[in-house]
Amino acid sequence: MEKDIKYIEELLFQKSSPIDALRLYASEHSVPIMDKISTEFVKQMIRVKSVKNILEIGTAIGYSSMHFASCDSDIRIWTIERNEEMYQLASKNIKDYNFETQINVIYSDAKEAKPLLPNQQKFDLIFIDAAKAQSQKFFELYEDLLSDDGIIITDNVLYHGFVSDIDVVRTRNVRQMVKKVQKYNEWLMQHKDYETTFINIGDGMAISKKEHN
Ligand code: SAM
Repeated sequence: MEKDIKYIEELLFQKSSPIDALRLYASEHSVPIMDKISTEFVKQMIRVKSVKNILEIGTAIGYSSMHFASCDSDIRIWTIERNEEMYQLASKNIKDYNFETQINVIYSDAKEAKPLLPNQQKFDLIFIDAAKAQSQKFFELYEDLLSDDGIIITDNVLYHGFVSDIDVVRTRNVRQMVKKVQKYNEWLMQHKDYETTFINIGDGMAISKKEHN
C-alpha cells in the first residue's frame, strides 16, 4: 500500500508544477498542506465538473488554492485564513505566482467571514480544510452558498488514522478532536439533503453532493 502511494506520487511529480516548490517551505516550517495525490484528485474533479467558483476555508500558504486556480484561467477562488502570518505568506505567494486576479484571500475567522464574500456569490466547490473540530460548523454556515450542482469536499476526515482507531490516541485534546471528526463523518452520512462518499486518499476526504428531490 505504502509502495503504491509512493509510486503514484512519483508519477504525479513527473508533471510537477512550479507551485510544488512550496512543498519544501511547508515541510521545513511544519505548515500542513494537501498531499500531492489529494491535490491532483481535487483538481481532476474541478476539471471534470468545470468548476468556476471556489470557496476554500483554510488557506495556509496558498498552496491548494493556487493549484486549484491553475486548472483554468476562468476559475475564481475566495479563500479564508485567520492566521495573520499565513495570510501574509499566502498573499505574497499568490502575487509571486501571478494568481492575484484569480484568488482573493480573506483575512478572517471563517466563522465570521460570510459577510466579506461578494453578495449573492454561489460556489461550485466548497473546500473545507481548516480547524478539523469545526468542519460541521463551516459546512452548516456556508452550504447555502453552494450552487445547485455543487460539491463540498472536506479534507482530513481520517485524521492521521486516528478516526478509525481512536484507542491509540493518548492526549485528551486530540481525542476530543478525533471524536468531533467521527461525529462529523456520521452526521454527513446521515444528512438527508446530501449524498456523501468517503475516500481513503491522503488524510481522507469526504465528497458531499446536494440531493435534488
Ligand atoms: N488548504 C491549505 C493547503 O492545502 O494548501 C492548507 C490549510 S491548513 C490544513 C489549515 C489552515 O486553516 C491553517 O492555516 C489555519 O490557520 C486555518 N484555519 C483554522 N481554523 C480557521 C478558521 N476558523 N478560520 C479561518 N482559517 C482557519
